[in-house]
Parts: sequence; structure tokens; C-alpha cells
Amino acid sequence: MSSEQKIGLYGGSFDPVHLGHLLVAQAALEEVGLERLFLVPAAQSPFKPGTTSTPAAERLRLLRLALAGQTRCEIDEQEIKRGGVSYTIDTVRDYVRRFPQAKLFYLIGADHVPSLAKWREGEELARAVEFVALPRPGQPEAPFAPPFRGRTLKGFPLGVSASEIRARVKAGLPIEHLVVPAVAEAIRNYHLYL
Ligand code: ATP
Repeated sequence: MSSEQKIGLYGGSFDPVHLGHLLVAQAALEEVGLERLFLVPAAQSPFKPGTTSTPAAERLRLLRLALAGQTRCEIDEQEIKRGGVSYTIDTVRDYVRRFPQAKLFYLIGADHVPSLAKWREGEELARAVEFVALPRPGQPEAPFAPPFRGRTLKGFPLGVSASEIRARVKAGLPIEHLVVPAVAEAIRNYHLYL
């Protein structure tokens, strides 16, 4: 029996972090049996060129509020600290170095699976991590094309996106059903997404 530690990495803009993120994170902990899950907010996503996200300090504040008290979920600020466009391979190399004995899993929304072949240093990435596709309502389950390896989670799909939340705040619509209460309160108090 293998006793290697299972570590999950979950990258994204988290602008803001919402219940969709948190539900699939919980599903990954349970279904994959992860011991630790690192949420890695991007400085600048390669998939959203030309867009400016909310300053990292604000996104981090919301992430900390959303994850308060969750012992197996941690925030890794390395992409923010590196700055520039955040490439997954740079972060994965760091984990390979820090946790040479661990089995690494990388969480991605099902919407990203078909474009994995375009990710930087794909061959190395495919050797280093097993992917975990996060189900999204309305998003068909796509197979992993070699060399990528992965599985799709069963739980807990929720049809919510950060862009929808930003649009709702701008329109003055409630978001309390889409984010944890402390995040909704901070978005209000710090006048974010107006
Ligand atoms: P935006 O609407 O701004 O594009 P997003 O809600 O898709 O943002 P990101 O922070 O970019 O959120 O997502 C990080 C990762 O989580 C991505 O791989 C994305 O596909 C995935 N993801 C986001 N929302 C969900 C959801 N509701 N269910 C499953 N996966 C999700």
C-alpha cells in the first residue's frame, strides 16, 4: 500500500472566491483523499489576457475569510509574489521541489480540460501532476487527452462564476447565496466590484 502524501493545488483568479470554488475543493478533499489543498491565486491568468483583476491584496483578503477555520485548505501566495503572468508549471515545479515524495493533484474547471494541450511545458506538467477536473453545470465532461492524466469529480457542481458575482454586485443584486457570509460582508464594506 502506498503511503505517499496526496497534495492538491487549485489555481485561479478567485475574483472573488465563491461557493462554487469551495464546494469543488471539498469534493476534491473527500473524493481524492487529499491531505492538504493549496489554493493558489494567480497574479495574472494566462487565460484572461488584457483583463485586470482586482488587486491581489483584496482577493487574498476574501480568500482568507472564505477559508477561515478550514484546516486542510491553505493559501499559497507564490504566484502573487512572483508577479507577471502566472504559469502553472512554475508553481508545480516549486511543489515538486518542496514535496518530492508527495503525489500532486492539480484541480481545474471542466471548462479548461479541452485546452490543456496549450498549457506551457505540457509534457513536464503531465508527468508531475494528475489533473482533477471540477464539474460545472452545463459543461460537458471532457476526456483527458494523453499525455495528461486525470479524473473528474462527482461533487458538488454549482453553476456560479466569479464574473456573475461581479456583475450582480455592479447591478446592485444580492450575492449572499453565492459566497460565504464574511466574503459578502467584506465585498460590501470595501466597496469591491462596484
Ligand atoms: P471568472 O468568472 O472570473 O472567469 P471563475 O468563477 O471561473 O472566474 P476562477 O477563479 O477563474 O473562477 O476559477 C478558478 C478555477 O476554478 C478554474 O479552473 C475554474 O474553471 C474553476 N471554477 C470556477 N468556478 C467553478 C464552479 N462553479 N464549479 C467548478 N469549477 C469552477
